[in-house]
Amino acid sequence: MRKSLVVGNWKMHGSLAGNVALLEAVKAGAAGVRADVALCVPYPYLAQAGTVLSGSKVAWGAQDVSEYESGAYTGEVSAAMLADLGCSCVIVGHSERRSFYGDTDAVVAAKFVAAQKAGLTPILCVGETLAERESGVTTAVVTRQLDAVLAAAGVSALKSAVVAYEPVWAIGTGKTASPQQAQEVHALIRARFAAEDAAIAQTTRILYGGSVKPANAQELFGQTDIDGGLIGGASLVAADFLAICAA
Ligand code: PEP
Repeated sequence: MRKSLVVGNWKMHGSLAGNVALLEAVKAGAAGVRADVALCVPYPYLAQAGTVLSGSKVAWGAQDVSEYESGAYTGEVSAAMLADLGCSCVIVGHSERRSFYGDTDAVVAAKFVAAQKAGLTPILCVGETLAERESGVTTAVVTRQLDAVLAAAGVSALKSAVVAYEPVWAIGTGKTASPQQAQEVHALIRARFAAEDAAIAQTTRILYGGSVKPANAQELFGQTDIDGGLIGGASLVAADFLAICAA
């Protein structure tokens, strides 16, 4: 049985003063939910998240990480630095990184490996664009994204990783994949893993992300292969995020 997980992705939002109420509310509210809960916040707020969330059931992490361990990579943040700040997880391959910052499948796979090497749980995002869905290549795109990581890290790496299916056309657009559309892709992701190792495929948590709201969370999370959510916009409103965690 896979335990549900809900991860908030604040994206580039927040302020030191404004974060306090949100972090405190999530900390208090999450104590009463069965799912595991994590927040991925902007780098400058990781220490604050650690201070407020330490000792609670809410884990914290970053939204990206360098594929390199250290060196002349101005502006980058290494996985070891995130671990130093008490992070337990990090998002890799978010579609905004893939499309705006040129993260290729190979770079995403290297980030995945770097995260695990530092003891962090990578949350690997995969998903197709609207044009890709409309041209019927969703399976090929998602499989290609997964295969890059399987080739670099091996299937056993999934024992300490999380996968998030995020159709790009549903992120921040208000358009949600229908529960059936999402389940179909989640099933294919699990089948891809099962082709490598059936037991690992059964225990890997696969989250759905893309305009999840309190009103649609329950039906999405009720699908056989959907083990929780990666939540963007709604994670900025404590009541909405906690309602999604409760779903
Ligand atoms: C995300 O940022 O990963 C995301 C799914 O955003 P939203 O929930 O706002 O669509």
